[in-house]
Amino acid sequence: TPNISRRPIRQLDAAAANRIAAGEVVERPASAVKELVENAIDAGARRVDVAYADGGKRLIRVEDDGHGIPADELPLALQRHATSKIDGSDLVNILTFGFRGEALPSLGAVGRLTVTSRARGASEAVCLGVRGGNAEPPRPAALARGTVVELEGLFTATPARLKFLRSDRAEAQAIGETLRRLAMAAPGVAFTLTDRSDPDSPREILRLDAESGDLFDALGNRLRALLGPDFLANALRIDAEREGVALTGYAALPTYSRGSAVTQHLFVNGRPVRDKLLLGALRAAYADLLSRDRHPAAALFVDLDPEQVDVNVHPAKAEVRFRDPGLVRGLVVGGLRQALAGAGHRASSTVGG
Ligand code: ADP
Ligand code: MG
Repeated sequence: TPNISRRPIRQLDAAAANRIAAGEVVERPASAVKELVENAIDAGARRVDVAYADGGKRLIRVEDDGHGIPADELPLALQRHATSKIDGSDLVNILTFGFRGEALPSLGAVGRLTVTSRARGASEAVCLGVRGGNAEPPRPAALARGTVVELEGLFTATPARLKFLRSDRAEAQAIGETLRRLAMAAPGVAFTLTDRSDPDSPREILRLDAESGDLFDALGNRLRALLGPDFLANALRIDAEREGVALTGYAALPTYSRGSAVTQHLFVNGRPVRDKLLLGALRAAYADLLSRDRHPAAALFVDLDPEQVDVNVHPAKAEVRFRDPGLVRGLVVGGLRQALAGAGHRASSTVGG
């Protein structure tokens, strides 16, 4: 047997605990952007401006006009398991993106983090830096409203993790995809994305105006801005309901199918997911209408009582667990087939199915 010398059990300090948690929360620049933009949306922002340099490795900056963080709470926001979004008694009725209280402390563990915020009604803004995993004392700052979070030198203190990142170009691409997916879930929020790799000539990658109007109008306009006019011109409105579970969105006609799955956008209670059950249901709905190498394009939103779904499965929350998977699958397959049949695309073997 190997010679294992046992050491005494010790409680890890906060910095070590944050570094470990960061491994799950922050895999690459796009995951940092996801956490920060989700925080901005959770804060009721109407506009969110995202910037990065060198694929997010040198700088990630997210600015919002949301409700901000009161000066006396800012140090707490950087502590693990500190959140304003749940009180711990109810892990079920979660309607915000965040609730684990892990993003900011994790980001502070993997780069130089600076948070500047001005709470609504506060007379001045306050700024707090985290250096080497340790928070500096808060200091007064200049900011008209909302919150600015800057993350510099991601993973420079952990070269092993830095090595796993892809090219600046590939990381920038992933940031763009992450932002587009979140922007789909929040058509009422304006977004910009800017590449600031060259400080003398910032490059605007994306600009989305805030959309208004009813759900379908706002979503339709946002989808047109994100996916191009072709998708919407070839898409059916999906609006179905079964036992309190709602399915809304747009799904493309089979003739608009694509050779890759990148145009499949699925959301559960407003949260972007890549859920096997939903992807399978989408595929099944089109099964007789598409050859196996074609993928249906769709942006679909499943909304249900938070008690009927567990989003607390994975830190990145890409997967969910439905209490009644059969109901959700039936709704998606049925809702899509009905819309497709209405447009003259009836699957031969599944009439009435
Ligand atoms: P979580 O989002 O799970 O609560 P975070 O670590 O992401 O955890 O954030 C901790 C807390 O900091 C949040 O609960 C929120 O109160 C506050 N916060 C973070 N980002 C923002 C923001 N952009 N605007 C307002 N408050 C924020
Ligand atoms: Mg968060």
